[in-house]
Amino acid sequence: MNNATRVLLDESRIPHAWYNILADLPSPPPPPLHPGTRRPVAPEDLAPLFPMELIGQEATADRFVAIPESVRDVYRLWRPTPLIRARRLERALGTPARVYYKYEGGSPAGSHKVNTAVPQAYYNAQQGIRRLTTETGAGQWGSALAFACAQYDLECEIWMVRASYDQKPHRRSLMRVYGATVHPSPSAITGAGSEILAAEPGSPGSLGIAISEAVEAAGGSDDTRYALGSVLNHVLLHQTVIGEEALEQLAAFGETPDLIVGCTGGGSNFAGLMFPFLREKLAGRIDPEIRAVEPAACPSFTRGTYAYDYGDAAGFTPMMKMYTLGHGFVPDPIHAGGLRYHGMSPLLSHMYDLGMFGAVARTQRECFEAGLQFARTEGIVPAPEPAHALAETVAEALRCKETGERKVILTALCGHGHFDLTAYDRYLAGDMKDVAPAQKRIDHALEGLPATEPAG
Ligand SMILES: *Cc1c(COP(=O)(O)O)cnc(C)c1O
Repeated sequence: MNNATRVLLDESRIPHAWYNILADLPSPPPPPLHPGTRRPVAPEDLAPLFPMELIGQEATADRFVAIPESVRDVYRLWRPTPLIRARRLERALGTPARVYYKYEGGSPAGSHKVNTAVPQAYYNAQQGIRRLTTETGAGQWGSALAFACAQYDLECEIWMVRASYDQKPHRRSLMRVYGATVHPSPSAITGAGSEILAAEPGSPGSLGIAISEAVEAAGGSDDTRYALGSVLNHVLLHQTVIGEEALEQLAAFGETPDLIVGCTGGGSNFAGLMFPFLREKLAGRIDPEIRAVEPAACPSFTRGTYAYDYGDAAGFTPMMKMYTLGHGFVPDPIHAGGLRYHGMSPLLSHMYDLGMFGAVARTQRECFEAGLQFARTEGIVPAPEPAHALAETVAEALRCKETGERKVILTALCGHGHFDLTAYDRYLAGDMKDVAPAQKRIDHALEGLPATEPAG
C-alpha cells in the first residue's frame, strides 16, 4: 500500500479490449427464448432490434473483444476515470478499512452509461441505421445515448418513465440539449402505452413499460433499431473498461481487494467493475468477496425468483432466465430510478445462482444518509443508485471498526447526483419514506410468469 489519494492513468491506458466473462464460466447461462415459439432465439430473431455486431457480441465465445478505435477515441473525452481512496470518509468513520472508489461521474452524461452508449451508437451507424429508440428510468441512460447518437449523427427517440419525467425535468432537458426527442412513458403514441393508460391513467410508469414502448416504436422500420442500457451481455461486456482500469489502478496503490461492492439495477456497473477482478479470482490470483446491493423497493436478487420472464411489461421481448419480481411488477417510485427494474441481467443471475457473488437490499433513507456523509467528506454528491453501494460500504467499514479488520473495500461510484438534488432536499426535509413491497404483491406478479414449454 502507498500513500496516494488518486491514481490517474494516461490516455494510452484506456483498454484496447472488453473482457467477456462468458469465456471463463463453468457453464453457460440458459439461452433466451423466443416469446412466440418459446424456443431458443436465433440471431435473425434479434436482427429487427439490434445491429448484427451487437447480436454477435451477445453470445461470443471470445475472451476479449477489440474496442474499435473510433470508440476509444470518444472514450478519450473522459477515460481513463480516476480511482480514488476515500481517506476523508475513512477518517470520519474511524475505520481501519481502506475504501477505494472508481468514479464514473466525470463522463459527459455523468455516469458509466456512456461506456456502452458510444459503442452501441457506433455499431448501429456502421450498419447504416439512422435512428435509435430507447427507454430511460432516471434519465441517465437516455442522456448517455443522446450524447452517443450526437457523436455518430443518429436520431434518438426516448421513452422516459413518467415518475422520473416529472421528478427530474433537467435530465429531460439534457437529453434535448444533446438533440434527442423525449416522451413520458406510458405515452399515447404506442399501443403498449395506450393500453396501460386506459387501465391506469395516472400510472407512474416503469422501466418494463417504457421498454415495451421503445421496442414497439423500433419495430417495423428498416432504418431504426432499439438500444438497451443494461441487462444484456453486450452491455455488461462494454462496461468492463471500468474493471480493467481499476485492476491496474488498485495495483498501483499496492492493494488487492477484499470486498467489491456495487449497486444493481440491471447489473451493468456492478458487472463492469467486478468481472475483470472475478477473472483474476477464478485464476487464483486474488480472492475478493463480491456483493451486489439492490433497493428494498425492487429486490430482484434477494426476494425474486430465478425463472424465465419477459424483459418488458407487455411481453414483446425474448424470455430470459433471470432473477425477477415478475414483468407485471411495478416498483414503488423511489429516488434511485435507475434501480427500478423488475428483472436482472440473465448473465449475473446465472452467476448468482452458481454462488459466485452475494447480494443484499438496502432502504432508501440509509442510502441517502450514506450519500450525504460521502458528499460531506469526499466532496462528490453521489447519484441515489451508487448511494446504495456506499451504504453497504459504510456498513462494512463500521463492521471493520468493531473487528479491527483492515479490509480493502472497492466500490463503483457510477454516477454523480447533480440532477438528484430535489431528492436530497426531500431527505434533508425529513419527508422521504422507506418502501418495501408486501410479499403478496410479489407473489401476485410472479403468478404472471410465462409458460416455458415450446408452443405448438
Ligand atoms: C443506470 C444506472 C444504474 C443502474 O443500472 P446498472 O445497469 O445496474 O448499472 C446505476 N447507477 C447509475 C448512476 C445509473 O445511471
